[in-house]
Amino acid sequence: MTVTRFAPSPTGRLHVGNIRTALHNWMLAKKAGGRFLLRIDDTDAERSREEYVEAIRADLAWLGIEPDGEERQSQRLTRYQDAFEVLLAAGRVYSCYETAQELDVKRKILLSRGLPPIYDRGALKLTDADRAEKEAEGIQPHWRFKLDHDEPIEWEDGVRGAQKFDAAQLSDPVIRRADGSWLYMLPSAVDDIDMGVTDVLRGEDHVSNTATQIQMFTALYAAQYAAEKPIPNFAHEALLVGREGKLSKRLGSLGCDAFREKGIEPQALIALLARLGTSQAVEPIADRQVLVDTFDLSTFGRAPAKFDDAELERINTALVHQMEFAEVQHRLPAGMDEAGWHAVRPNLTTLDEVSEWWRLVTGPIDQVEFSGDDHAYLAQAAQLLSWGDDPWHGLTTALKEVTGRKGKALFLPLRQALTGMDHGPDMKELLPLIGEAEARARLEHAAHY
Ligand code: GLU
Repeated sequence: MTVTRFAPSPTGRLHVGNIRTALHNWMLAKKAGGRFLLRIDDTDAERSREEYVEAIRADLAWLGIEPDGEERQSQRLTRYQDAFEVLLAAGRVYSCYETAQELDVKRKILLSRGLPPIYDRGALKLTDADRAEKEAEGIQPHWRFKLDHDEPIEWEDGVRGAQKFDAAQLSDPVIRRADGSWLYMLPSAVDDIDMGVTDVLRGEDHVSNTATQIQMFTALYAAQYAAEKPIPNFAHEALLVGREGKLSKRLGSLGCDAFREKGIEPQALIALLARLGTSQAVEPIADRQVLVDTFDLSTFGRAPAKFDDAELERINTALVHQMEFAEVQHRLPAGMDEAGWHAVRPNLTTLDEVSEWWRLVTGPIDQVEFSGDDHAYLAQAAQLLSWGDDPWHGLTTALKEVTGRKGKALFLPLRQALTGMDHGPDMKELLPLIGEAEARARLEHAAHY
């Protein structure tokens, strides 16, 4: 069974890049009839906040991306301890005593010589006596995972194709701080094993982490931490960038609240993000099942995916225009019926605008000032107004005959008098909603204004 996970750190709100990763993991699981897990990566007690955990859940709920289960790293510390001990016994973790400043100096020296800033494994040269001395000085060690330099690291990436890393070109990652707290690397590998994760789909900023984590999986299985299973399939999607093609700060803070405020429907965001950066056309697809069925990692490109607000707005508008009355009824102004929805719908770019247009029916409308000619014309209109199947057609036909007016001169003063605006929904649909008495009153009022 396919199991995917979305693993945000609750140190802030979800942004559009996270939302995309969550969505793709959800689609990957749904397409395979599998499970999608929400994993809260909250080992960093200082930066993690409960309010963000709640916001992440609420945002996913708004998006309709429903997890099939939720896990929290802070509740799994004993598992990480178990894994740590197993790896320690197997000689795959080691203690280190360098201070942050010392590490920084080492790094700068390497960089100044044009060398990659790989940790020199200085701590491996320490003797038991050296370590005892450090600890006597009150220095607590931090811990690194020891990469196996002889083991080639290779995987077939779901997006990037064949990947190959030389372990000697990577630093042994710090997995645990001196205060005993965990960094991201090991807990994530342990969770993926324990939770039976089969597919890890994340941003390409994690490619080198994958190289390291593949060795962690192998080391954990070799040390018999758990019964051996295949290592997950890994896929790394290209980053999301702004329309200008640059990583933008704005995108990093653009989340569900901002979209909601702009009247963006969750489905518009889903339709866009589902296919952005793939070779499939981005379309206003309201049916998620269609997106799920056509989801295909092999269509993902390696170039950064460009997020464009204007494209999102276009999709949103197209989706609003597809919405049926029953779907939106609970979000419409009181008294607005199906005919009202159909009259106003083509004029909407977001659903929020509906009350503005509905006001043209219920009033009060804005008053437009008319010239003397138009006063007479509108007085005639008030007289000629009669009610039937299509009062707008009746009124305009009669006025055309009587006044000889046509085109704009015929229609615009009527629209202005009846709605207070120069443009708007189709008058043929609007006029029956305004009603005979109200329409006549508006025409008469305008005739004297
Ligand atoms: N908490 C990690 C992050 O947000 C998870 C990465 C992963 O998917 O493994 O970057």
